[in-house]
Amino acid sequence: MPFPEFNAPSPNYATLPLHERRGVCFHHTEMPFAETLAFMARPESRVSYHVVIAPDGARARLVADEHLAWHAGVSVFHGREGCNAFLLGVSFAGDTRMAPLTEAQLASALEWLAPRWVKSGWSLDWITDHRQVAPGRKKDLAPAEWSRLQSAIARRFGYYARDPR
Ligand SMILES: [Zn+2]
Repeated sequence: MPFPEFNAPSPNYATLPLHERRGVCFHHTEMPFAETLAFMARPESRVSYHVVIAPDGARARLVADEHLAWHAGVSVFHGREGCNAFLLGVSFAGDTRMAPLTEAQLASALEWLAPRWVKSGWSLDWITDHRQVAPGRKKDLAPAEWSRLQSAIARRFGYYARDPR
């Protein structure tokens, strides 16, 4: 039974250049689900994710995959700056420093990843979180929750792509 997914459009994105979709940067919102969507619907907030996952696993789609959501800010991954150009932004509602991800959030993230993993040829080493791409500046996800998520992804999809880039 798939988790529900609905549109909650945010105006905070760029249409050019087209998103490279090399992998994913995971976040937590700190704010509750509904507040996050309301905040990101406002142009003045200047922030967005591609998708936000509620504690019950429901997913809100804020920005289309081919557009650049404004989620990572000043960031570097695999030696390259500006992660918004090449990593999709997926965020869990809540604060993983205060409470662990729910099982529904983990399952929903895997469900969201599944079609993209194959289509875009992702591998585990291109899946990261905000804390790791903005060290010292960002604290999402909590390390223990990142480990849970990474393990769940590895179990589901394997550690490496067939054709590593
Ligand atoms: Zn973040």
